[in-house]
Amino acid sequence: MLSFRDARELVIQTLVARGSAPEERPLAVLGEAEPQESVPLQRAMGRVLAESLTSDRDYPPFDRATRDGFAVHAADLFQLPATLALIGEIRAGADFRGGVGPGQCVAIMTGAGLPPGADAVVMIEHTKPSENVVLFDRAALPNQNVVRRGSESKAGDQLLRPGMRLGYAEISLAAQVGRTELWVRRRPVVAILSTGDEVVAYDQQPGPRQIRNSNSVSLTLQAELAGAEPRPLGNAPDRIEDLRAMIAHGLESDLLVLTGGVSMGKYDLVEGVLREMGADFLFDAVAIRPGRPAVFAYCQGRPVFGLPGNPVSTMVTFELFVVPAIDLLGRTAPRPLPIFKAKLAAPVSQKAALTHFLPAEVTWASGEAMVQELPWQGSGDIAAMARANCFLVMPENRLESAAGDWVDVIPRRDRF
Ligand code: AMP
Ligand code: MG
Repeated sequence: MLSFRDARELVIQTLVARGSAPEERPLAVLGEAEPQESVPLQRAMGRVLAESLTSDRDYPPFDRATRDGFAVHAADLFQLPATLALIGEIRAGADFRGGVGPGQCVAIMTGAGLPPGADAVVMIEHTKPSENVVLFDRAALPNQNVVRRGSESKAGDQLLRPGMRLGYAEISLAAQVGRTELWVRRRPVVAILSTGDEVVAYDQQPGPRQIRNSNSVSLTLQAELAGAEPRPLGNAPDRIEDLRAMIAHGLESDLLVLTGGVSMGKYDLVEGVLREMGADFLFDAVAIRPGRPAVFAYCQGRPVFGLPGNPVSTMVTFELFVVPAIDLLGRTAPRPLPIFKAKLAAPVSQKAALTHFLPAEVTWASGEAMVQELPWQGSGDIAAMARANCFLVMPENRLESAAGDWVDVIPRRDRF
């Protein structure tokens, strides 16, 4: 059985092989087929850039003081202490007429332009100013507390490449260079179809043996968080004809995610229906718990995931396998799975030789990452998952781990 790393890699390789590679060329070069839209900056968070962002002018646009203090010739402070004549003041945003001659200095504020003749700024804390002169008792180096014009970027420089996912820093950079809108790629549309005779819409009153469709909600939100446009299709009962019709509908989207109906039960029909509809299966089991029966296939040219219906299984397998597919369909590089080390607060044991993903809480109270498995009733226990801020990853080759062992942790993306 595939390890989760191999399964994830297979998802990535398969999507790339089928033409969903990350794309660093702008859309004009890609041609008409690549859909794009222009969005206001405030709506660009998490979107994939479709153009090349360039610098409208030099940055900084002038030699910029980075401290409040005095603009000087560094050479004037060669012999200490030194007293320089104070000939004026430059506020941020203001122009300074004239220059700074030998033996002179100018009061300058953070963000103001260095006057001609000066080559350094001495912090006000290191000076003794009086009415018309300033006393210096420390040497200055040329360029100290100054960022030179054009040293961050030059007019026309490429600042952001097409194909990168935009966050607040990238979007504020676009604002800095005068953009109000950006061209972004269309978000991949992810159809979400739950299955099961016992499942009712979450706004309906369930019968005594029925459950509300919580997976459609978690999947919709996970898809959105991953950068997709979710399209919830509701629930299909465990009947071949219904499944066939609803899967066919789901295949109109860029990606179809199903939950439930992929285990070994008599009414787990998803794989059979997909096969009959011509699917190629890349995997139908992964050596993980929860989530072992997870399915990845291509059906009629579309990637399809069949995730096990237990809510925590659905959540885990989405993060492991579906997120990188969404990145690639959005024409951006698959984000790495964030895994870091933490110390186990209490021993953990597991029964099966599978990689376990356990709801857990990581804290940094003692200065280092400490992780504690949370009590849970197995993969149906959404309440336990709702108390967790991470998954504790226990490797398949170690059934017993002791308190103090270093273990892998995957943070919940919506918690950090
Ligand atoms: P299955 O994968 O179809 O065997 O379902 C496994 C478990 O997950 C069963 O207890 C189902 O009732 C439950 N389940 C399946 N689909 C959903 C859903 N959409 N929302 C909440 N629980 C579900
Ligand atoms: Mg079922």
